Amino acid sequence: MIAIFLGAPGVGKGTQAAAAAESQGWTHLSTGDLLRQEVAAGTDLGLKAKEYMDRGDLVPDNVMVGMVAARVESMENNEVLLLDGFPRTKAQAEALHAAAPEGSIRLAVCYTASDETLISRLLGRGRTDDTREVVEHRLAVYSETTEPLVAFYRDLGILCEVDAEREIKIIQSETIEIIRTGLASTNPQGANG
Ligand code: AMP
Repeated sequence: MIAIFLGAPGVGKGTQAAAAAESQGWTHLSTGDLLRQEVAAGTDLGLKAKEYMDRGDLVPDNVMVGMVAARVESMENNEVLLLDGFPRTKAQAEALHAAAPEGSIRLAVCYTASDETLISRLLGRGRTDDTREVVEHRLAVYSETTEPLVAFYRDLGILCEVDAEREIKIIQSETIEIIRTGLASTNPQGANG
């Protein structure tokens, strides 16, 4: 099963996905982490991606789909894959549906917080792509490009919204509960069945 983690930069979806995966033996796939590894290793892909990341722009769809598609196609039957930071565009969402095993996309968990909370969290974590100008641009890119996916997954009937303003432990148990419920769901067709 695939659970998509959606939400604005700074909302904590990466932290939640990592902790849930760690405690439950699920797989966490973060495209931001994959890109940062490429940047750190100085690969061609990393050098190219860094320009976009430093500006707070999205890395082109073909690059991102290339990183994720093969991994998703080769999923094990009983694997639980937490997809963190992908898809971020309609084109990525469509590519994911095409690549994922039939019926495997069962959940989109969307974390919500106010802009004020997001900006203070992003500025507080001190990453090089987190200056105020870049942070504001990343939030604008999110509302224009990724936020429409929330409606897309709501229409498919697989959206779960989580209030991310609350205590981190509460969000964590709610996250795990949502995914367990998705796993036990009586609709094995998922959104791409
Ligand atoms: P994240 O850690 O998910 O916030 O990602 C950090 C940066 O990596 C983003 O600001 C984008 O520049 C890039 N990135 C990560 N995932 C994607 C994606 N699915 N599509 C495009 N760019 C991405």
